[in-house]
Amino acid sequence: MESKIRLSGITRESVVDGLGFRYVLYAQGCPHRCKGCHNPSTHSFEGGELVDVENIVYDIKKYTMLDGITCSGGECFEKAEQFAFIAKEVKAMGLNVWAYTGYTLEEILLYQNDRSGWNDFIKYIDVLVDGRYQEDHKDLSLCFRGSTNQRLIDMQRTLHTGEISLFQI
Ligand code: SF4
Repeated sequence: MESKIRLSGITRESVVDGLGFRYVLYAQGCPHRCKGCHNPSTHSFEGGELVDVENIVYDIKKYTMLDGITCSGGECFEKAEQFAFIAKEVKAMGLNVWAYTGYTLEEILLYQNDRSGWNDFIKYIDVLVDGRYQEDHKDLSLCFRGSTNQRLIDMQRTLHTGEISLFQI
């Protein structure tokens, strides 16, 4: 595994990227190019900054009030090996893991064996917010998602039962 991950940024104590206090990692690079995307500067795979995953885990340990981390973007599944490493370490600390992706869960399950790190990453995700942002389905009243096509999925229950289980807030 490449030990560095290209990030567009880090927010160390967020309350808007999932439940509770969260350490948020924004991947640099996204192939989806959703119309109306709020983070177009994250689309290029060249920008941002390369950060060592061990240093990220070390930094997360300093924030003792955290409930979990959120893997966001950009597209975090384009950096799935590195996010899987971070997520595994974070779970061992007793924190939870949320991940935002433009891929649908169905796409992830279809390609999980072909794409590097996908199989591993989904094992550590508690809540997956899936699907591309669809401007014509935008709804400002939604919690933790931008458009109605996106879902908050209880990933562990879904993997365990084989049926999509939505996360209840
Ligand atoms: S998946 Fe997210 S970051 Fe990528 S284009 Fe869509 S809204 Fe923007």
